[in-house]
Amino acid sequence: MAKESTIRTPIVCVMGHVDHGKTSLLDRIRGSSVVSTEEGEITQHIGATLVPIDAVTRMGGALSKVSVNVPGLLFIDTPGHHAFTTLRARGGALADMAIVVVDINEGFRPQTIEALQILRNYKTPFVIAANKVDRIHGWRVQENQPFLKTFAQQNERVQGMVETKVYELVGKLSDLGFNSERFDRVSDFARNICIVPTSALTGEGLPDILMVLIGLAQRYMTESLKVSADGPGAGTVLEVKEERGLGMTLDLILYDGTLKVGDEIVVAGNDQIIETKVRSLLKPRPMSEILIEERFERVKSVTAAAGIKVAAPKLDGVIAGSPLRAVRSGNRDEVIEQVRREVQDIEVNLSDVGVIIRADTIGALEALSKELEGHQIQVMRATVGPVTRHDVIEAGTIKDPLYSAIIAFNTPVLPDAVDALADTAMSHVSIFEGGVIYQLIDDYVEWRDEKKQ
Ligand code: GDP
Ligand code: MG
Repeated sequence: MAKESTIRTPIVCVMGHVDHGKTSLLDRIRGSSVVSTEEGEITQHIGATLVPIDAVTRMGGALSKVSVNVPGLLFIDTPGHHAFTTLRARGGALADMAIVVVDINEGFRPQTIEALQILRNYKTPFVIAANKVDRIHGWRVQENQPFLKTFAQQNERVQGMVETKVYELVGKLSDLGFNSERFDRVSDFARNICIVPTSALTGEGLPDILMVLIGLAQRYMTESLKVSADGPGAGTVLEVKEERGLGMTLDLILYDGTLKVGDEIVVAGNDQIIETKVRSLLKPRPMSEILIEERFERVKSVTAAAGIKVAAPKLDGVIAGSPLRAVRSGNRDEVIEQVRREVQDIEVNLSDVGVIIRADTIGALEALSKELEGHQIQVMRATVGPVTRHDVIEAGTIKDPLYSAIIAFNTPVLPDAVDALADTAMSHVSIFEGGVIYQLIDDYVEWRDEKKQ
């Protein structure tokens, strides 16, 4: 039986500094669906929003002449800054592309810079939304219009202001090693990052963001988006939730193949691999059917890419970010081994002498280690979870005192570790704690360079 390969919907993650407009941007994209009941409607998935290609072209961005073979875009609705690194697939990031939102008036902030570094390390294509353009003094709103149309309606002073702000971003991006330009002046996506001025409040520039994403998908990833639609389902767990009448459920982003009711599935728990069987697959009900008693609609099968709720027995203890794989044609042991490897194998090159690193999730640990590697800082041990007393003692015995440090990203330091650190025998050990990777690295480097003198 010939397996047909199709191009699946690329998965898009929204990143950026807090309050710069990530949630608003997604809300606005989703909001456009309410006005339309036509073919190609934007639909709510579990943990995601699907914008089909028809909806993208209907909105009519500046690049709408590109030949389109991508079926649409699936936006992940994850709250929280570190979603990108937490959500892994195949040892890399789950998201195929990203939007980095930056407040055009405020410019880059620590989490913007961190997002860019992560995207560089994962080689993920992205577009910059230079958001809140409507806040520029004197801006005249042209609801939902593509950027160039609304830009043409602004007076010279406002236009000049937009240009200045965009060039400030270009400069900052250049400092970080990226070439960038306002999107309408970019002819080669491989050489330049596109900056699109947007307003999540008025919808201006959003058609262009969507079109740039489609362009990136076509340019960079039509090969990697080829899937065998009838192959066994593979996905990443976004959230583990108890639902009334359903018991424990998984919110899953399916990125490959098809998942069916009755499929045997393998997923990772806190301390063991869990094998179970799909009892039901649930989609959110469309808005129009909101009065129906049941919140979810049951489906028999679902094909990637999609957001779906999975109900099954034995889901207690499944970890968010875990891979989920369906078993087909008796390759059960192989699938179990695959899932085990995906959770355990983090791509960190360990050295005999180096710092000890800790993070809250596997993906976060990997992101931190990649950045350390870029700074030629060696890592001796990398583990998920809070900093323990044992970590402090181990750091205390490292031969090179310049590495007697623990870097804790997004994870607490346990009280007995604090006690151990207070011991005079450990006075040469330092712990660096925080939620922004490059600040942690800056702090460590400053400490190390002081010690060197
Ligand atoms: P997030 O933390 O990045 O998800 O940011 P939010 O989407 O929650 O937005 C933070 C605040 O900025 C909210 O009060 C939004 O209403 C406001 N906001 C977001 N985007 C825009 C925009 O394009 N224009 C204006 N004027 N306000 C915006
Ligand atoms: Mg938000």
